Amino acid sequence: MSNDAHHAAGRDLARLDKEYVWHPFTQMRDWMEGEPLIIERGEGPYLVDVEGKRYIDGVSSLWVIVHGHGKREIVEAIQAQAATLCHSTLLGLANVPSVLLAEKLVGIAPPGLSRVFYSDNGSTSVEIALKMAYQYWQHRGEKKRTLFLSFKNGYHGDTLGAVSVGGIDLFHKVYCPLLFRSPKAPSPYCYRCPLRLEPDTCGMACVEAFEQQVKKYRDRLCAVIIEPAVQGAGGMIVQPEGFLTRIRRIAAEHGILFIADEVATGFGRTGDLFACLGAGISPDFLCLSKGITGGYLPLAATMTTNEVFKGFLGEFEDFKTFFHGHTYTGNPVACAAAIASLRLFETESVMERVTAASRLMAAGLKRLHELPHVGDVRQKGCMAGIELVADKKRKRPYRPAEKVGQQVVAEARKRGVILRPLGDVIVLMPPLAIEDNVLEELLSVTYESIRAVTGAGPAKA
Ligand SMILES: *Cc1c(COP(=O)(O)O)cnc(C)c1O
Repeated sequence: MSNDAHHAAGRDLARLDKEYVWHPFTQMRDWMEGEPLIIERGEGPYLVDVEGKRYIDGVSSLWVIVHGHGKREIVEAIQAQAATLCHSTLLGLANVPSVLLAEKLVGIAPPGLSRVFYSDNGSTSVEIALKMAYQYWQHRGEKKRTLFLSFKNGYHGDTLGAVSVGGIDLFHKVYCPLLFRSPKAPSPYCYRCPLRLEPDTCGMACVEAFEQQVKKYRDRLCAVIIEPAVQGAGGMIVQPEGFLTRIRRIAAEHGILFIADEVATGFGRTGDLFACLGAGISPDFLCLSKGITGGYLPLAATMTTNEVFKGFLGEFEDFKTFFHGHTYTGNPVACAAAIASLRLFETESVMERVTAASRLMAAGLKRLHELPHVGDVRQKGCMAGIELVADKKRKRPYRPAEKVGQQVVAEARKRGVILRPLGDVIVLMPPLAIEDNVLEELLSVTYESIRAVTGAGPAKA
């Protein structure tokens, strides 16, 4: 197609999009007043729009892309599987890729996780863990265990069970009457400590607050659910060293199940294959999705222990069955993509690359502190959040109407970078396989875009 033809086709698509599509987490009035960017292709760390303009994919297409776009090995695995079998149900049947992937996942997951239950997105992987944990206790005769302890600023997805254990008020508020009650422990948000303490001297009082909650609800708790290492959608809140290990230990001491939601942190993002492995812990449930297929197809897995699995075994007429399943559970094409992605972790030494990339990110992020409206910079592996504030000294946030995060994203786009903020937290989460020079450009565009929106003046200490 000629450039002009591309241009015209792009304009037409933009019109159709505005007319017919409802975008997620988007104020559609703003959307319809703007010009949508329409992506046509992906190449390595880049997205290419319908007019042929290239952008660095600075958030891995919402935290999923691992080896870059258009990765030959994954594309070929998908093509081969699609030509063989696109779908067959796991209700009453097995299929080849779902078996092989389950074996692989058990091989790489933290020790003790020996069963894989498939679904197709992060929210459902969480729903499954919640329902399994609850039903496990029901079968054990502990009928009073109906509560889940979760954390403020936690995010576990958008279905109603996942929202119930979520801790982001903005998402919660309107749906409140529809949700089940879930007690909340304080978020380990050191920059804005909910207990108003300082990290050097607090002795991790938030862990004690968590333990008090555990004691308070003790006999009524099914499980605790946590995003290990980083609370992602809550604002890239990185947990202090040792936090996760202590939470895990307390849950075990009080005999409650531990659900690790690694939908965001899994598959290398934090610098370890799984954040739980980095902390040396094993959960009772591990929820996986986003990066599982390298970001190519929707797939999720909820892994659990033999102990939990055994709790569901019985005579048919006991009805101890786990009554849950999705139409596309264990989809063979998605499973084939996941197998190909996991193979690349080995053949391309992805975890070594993550270590190098996260060092480079740390060095590049340091410079941001000199900007007068950068309040906090948080990083774990290849996940980073830059919190912008109206007043650095008082940590005073911007007013929502100022849309500072969105303004920074718009500036970055002009400079050839795609970002997606969380309020006024600018998120950087590049594909793990990003080359050094592209990562450096991502970091410098981020710096320039923040500076363009918030000003350059020297920081007032
Ligand atoms: C994205 C996310 C989810 C939800 O996944 P979806 O695929 O969007 O349903 C759940 N938990 C965490 C930690 C996530 O980051």
